[in-house]
Amino acid sequence: MEPCFDCPIMCGALRSNNETGVCGVGGRSFVCRAARHYYEEPPISGARGSGAVFFAGCNMRCVFCQNMDISRSGGEGLAGAKPVDADELASIMLRFEELGAHNVNLVTPTPHIRLIESAVPKARARGLTLPIVFNTNGYERAETLRRLEGLIDIYLPDLKYVSPVLSERYSGRSDYFEVASEAVTEMHRQVGLLKTDEEGIAVSGMIIRHLVLPLAVDDTRRVLDFIAGSLSKDVSVSLMSQYTPIEGMKKPLDRRLTKGEYKRAVEYAEGLGLKNVFIQKLTSASLDFTPEFNGFFE
Ligand code: SF4
Repeated sequence: MEPCFDCPIMCGALRSNNETGVCGVGGRSFVCRAARHYYEEPPISGARGSGAVFFAGCNMRCVFCQNMDISRSGGEGLAGAKPVDADELASIMLRFEELGAHNVNLVTPTPHIRLIESAVPKARARGLTLPIVFNTNGYERAETLRRLEGLIDIYLPDLKYVSPVLSERYSGRSDYFEVASEAVTEMHRQVGLLKTDEEGIAVSGMIIRHLVLPLAVDDTRRVLDFIAGSLSKDVSVSLMSQYTPIEGMKKPLDRRLTKGEYKRAVEYAEGLGLKNVFIQKLTSASLDFTPEFNGFFE
């Protein structure tokens, strides 16, 4: 029996003994939804959709999480959630290939890394050719990521904060930047810059996502400074305006982003010379983009 130290929380849960970790995940991984998803960045979603696998559980506790139904539960007893083993996850991946999805998009994969390490080679052996996307909150151990080298084609990490005050207040993790900056550096080392095919669909590389938060444009600037200064001005960045308050949210997170805040963030990215920035319209700030978590291949 091996304790789990896969993520930076390093809680040591004996998951093979069905002990539940801080991430909420125990001995089995649950998938809450497996369906094509059309609301990622254009090189990820394309016209035919991204084959999104939404796992239950998460190693962070962001107060504004849009997927709280599934992120705060390991999946046991959750309506619509299905336990999956490596063979079943490989079958889901292959089904996406049959459906014509552009990739397999593993959403909140961190607590399921052992399953992924086993499922991807099985799917490849059965003929999977789609790129594998690792769609993460960025709170990852670089040491664990090194085990994924060669298995993951596209990293899609968040880089949420630099400020330890904000990361503690909004996500309960004061060491977020220390950990996530090392993680995205390791991802960049593994897969490099975003590469697309002749149709503009991602085949490998990394897109860093940053959600601009109300009254936090200064921290956005620091995130962008890190990317431009420590990684590369050619790194692809998705600068997201879609922050949407959930019910009961306290100030300043009780409102959407203003046009002025987002404009300042975009102008700063341009001023830094970042060359590949995806920007959103403010009309993207809608809960309509949050899928219901009970669908399989509809
Ligand atoms: S992945 Fe889950 S069980 Fe493993 S160290 Fe992190 S919180 Fe603990």
